[in-house]
Amino acid sequence: MMKSNIPNSTDLTCALKVVDLHVDFATAGGVLPAVRGVSFELEQGETLAIVGESGSGKSVTALSIMQLIAKRTGRISSGEIVFDGQDLLKLDEHKLREMRGNAISMIFQEPMSSLNPLMKVGHQVGEVFRRHLKVDRAEAKRLSIEMLRKVGLSAPERRYNEFPHQISGGMRQRVMIAIALACRPQLLIADEPTTALDVTIQGQILDLIQGLKNENEMSVVIITHDLGVVAEIVDYVVVMYAGQVVETGYAREIFEQPRHPYTKALINAVPKLGLRTRTKQRTRLEEIVGTVPNLLALPAGCAFCERCDYAQEICSTLAPSMEVVGARRSVRCHFDLTKKDRHHER
Ligand code: SF4
Repeated sequence: MMKSNIPNSTDLTCALKVVDLHVDFATAGGVLPAVRGVSFELEQGETLAIVGESGSGKSVTALSIMQLIAKRTGRISSGEIVFDGQDLLKLDEHKLREMRGNAISMIFQEPMSSLNPLMKVGHQVGEVFRRHLKVDRAEAKRLSIEMLRKVGLSAPERRYNEFPHQISGGMRQRVMIAIALACRPQLLIADEPTTALDVTIQGQILDLIQGLKNENEMSVVIITHDLGVVAEIVDYVVVMYAGQVVETGYAREIFEQPRHPYTKALINAVPKLGLRTRTKQRTRLEEIVGTVPNLLALPAGCAFCERCDYAQEICSTLAPSMEVVGARRSVRCHFDLTKKDRHHER
């Protein structure tokens, strides 16, 4: 197998390219390497999911794309984030501000803490139109009501004048989506967009993001800990563990034939009916025993070794490198999960 850091794809359709990204945080216990050499590519119009448990580095990766890492403690120490032909890490703050909420938008996990509690929701959407399109107050209001209607808010004229605490969690998330999409971004980053919502609303929000993506020809990056949530809408999957990418591939390939033990464990832990159509052989749910290793004291070998059902002697001493195993398909494991004779499950 050919060794490489990044999955291969054609640059012609590439919407976002993250190359060997490293992000560190200063902590009382020392420098914590939250993101360790992450690379992936997103094609134009594609929906990509970054999947992993808490502490995998997925949200830090998303915040790095937006350059929203808290500068007091965090630092992008190296790498490239290429969007629209430019390395975002080389742009000054003024250019970045222009880019955020314009060409690139983000939906955050918890809308209540992202929306201004003292400002009517309509005005928060309108601000985006005023700032980026330089329209007057009346036009911003008209565009905001139109956008609130588009994201499925009932009675948008009334909602326009309500405060965040006066509407439900699902409605607040729709307002966040309206703000994120107000200027028709080329790239939307959604960090756990449905975590705080019940299952029915989760489905509606994901359908909404997918519908608006098709309508606006956007590319989308969804950050999630739950493979099941995105099984039906994602084109491409990047699986992260302990700050590294451990597997990449098209969603169907990942669900039908996971090649990394961690990906396999994540799929087996998904209690979603939707996945059954893709993983027909799965009949029982399994939990992933143990926890993500302390990033301040990473083991010498594979970071997943302690929890891996397939670990062999070499795994505890030698860290596996990322290997390309197909078109935009790569895996970080000493063994090939698809070849049973090379694996002896513990
Ligand atoms: Fe498991 Fe070894 Fe592969 Fe790591 S390298 S995932 S421990 S089999």
